[in-house]
Amino acid sequence: MTPSRALAKLQRLVQIPTISSSDAALIDTAAFDRLLEAMVELFPLLHARLELTRVGAHGLLFRWAGASAERPVVLMAHLDVVPVDADSSWTHPPFDGVIADGYLWGRGPLDDKGCVVGICEAVELLLERDFVPAQDVWLSFGADEEVFGTDASDAVAILTERGVRPWMVLDEGGAVAHDAFPGVTRPVAVVGVAEKGSSSFEMRAEGRGGHASMPARMGPTARLARAILRIERSPFPAKLPAPAIELFSRLAPHAPGPLRPLMANGAKLAPLLTRALVLAGAEPAALARTTVAVTTLSGSPAINVIASTAKAGVNVRIMPGESVASTRRHLEKAISDEHVHLDLLESGEPSPVSLYEDEPAFNLLEECVAEVFGDAVTSPYVLMGATDSRHFTAICERVYRFAPFRMSKAQRESIHSYDERIGTDDFEEGVRWYGRLIERLT
Ligand SMILES: [Zn+2]
Repeated sequence: MTPSRALAKLQRLVQIPTISSSDAALIDTAAFDRLLEAMVELFPLLHARLELTRVGAHGLLFRWAGASAERPVVLMAHLDVVPVDADSSWTHPPFDGVIADGYLWGRGPLDDKGCVVGICEAVELLLERDFVPAQDVWLSFGADEEVFGTDASDAVAILTERGVRPWMVLDEGGAVAHDAFPGVTRPVAVVGVAEKGSSSFEMRAEGRGGHASMPARMGPTARLARAILRIERSPFPAKLPAPAIELFSRLAPHAPGPLRPLMANGAKLAPLLTRALVLAGAEPAALARTTVAVTTLSGSPAINVIASTAKAGVNVRIMPGESVASTRRHLEKAISDEHVHLDLLESGEPSPVSLYEDEPAFNLLEECVAEVFGDAVTSPYVLMGATDSRHFTAICERVYRFAPFRMSKAQRESIHSYDERIGTDDFEEGVRWYGRLIERLT
């Protein structure tokens, strides 16, 4: 089967391994150069007619002049992908771009080259008809999203300098999720209106080291272990954020009978819903509270030496409404040991919550979903992960995170894992969705 024009373009970009790394020496810059060259070739009108500003080494910021510049819109995506785990078993090699069984397989079609090509192809098709958008449309494509790089914040700085205050920003994040909620048969187009903040602390216990033959009580390793257990026993208070309550009430009419009243009255029954989520397992619990994971551990370098310092890495995902400072206070109180120190390694605050209630921008996304995806229910939600769009919350109150592609549970799990793949028909729908979004701007 010959792929469609749009799919062939996506296939071409998936075949270029633009793997980002926080270690500049490990980046294959030639691959990023090839990707940018391929884009010039694949989207000739876009490159001829839009104004391009290069951002960082390989980031792109395009401006498509509209009839008005009053309510500019920014469409975002990222050009880089995460590495492939050598031990993982892919059905098809990750950078071959194999099309089989109704899917395009490889690293990147879902995260996030599908959005790159979806946006660019929609623009290219509209340019072929000499379409002029009602508002300025900016395309912001960073090349270092997966390593928390600076392309997106640089793009924000450029827009700010030019006096551009976006009316709406759309980035990756949510999707048209199939089988996401037990008993709900309709797909749910989840649009991220906020994201948790990701921060990391180093937890450090110090004491006297020495020979392992003469151990003292409560040395650094024991102190650290006690602190870890205390953190584990003091979970953050659970409280459903408003977008999560909204999600439940929007799903209620499509949920199995017995659950309907509980979900529909989410606002009133929030404490009950929250308890149910916390009890339902790690994944639902993460919807309801700030989470803590103790990840790395280190102590003595030798088995017969007592550690003078023991350390643990603590990664926290902070709920909107809380902060890095309040998270630190909670952890310190839980640990309650003056010999255990917390050093902040990475600080990421949760995002503000974008407007969605009676909000024309949110309604526009919802209308485009209804038009292209028919049966899907649109709802706001809170993203667990971080996206580049968080930088845009500084200059825009309507930052949404949504990739217009149908994704099954297996596909969602393939992101950053193995056997990532996009449905060939699903990709065409996504291209159409971006096109309708641009056409419907007023
Ligand atoms: Zn991504």
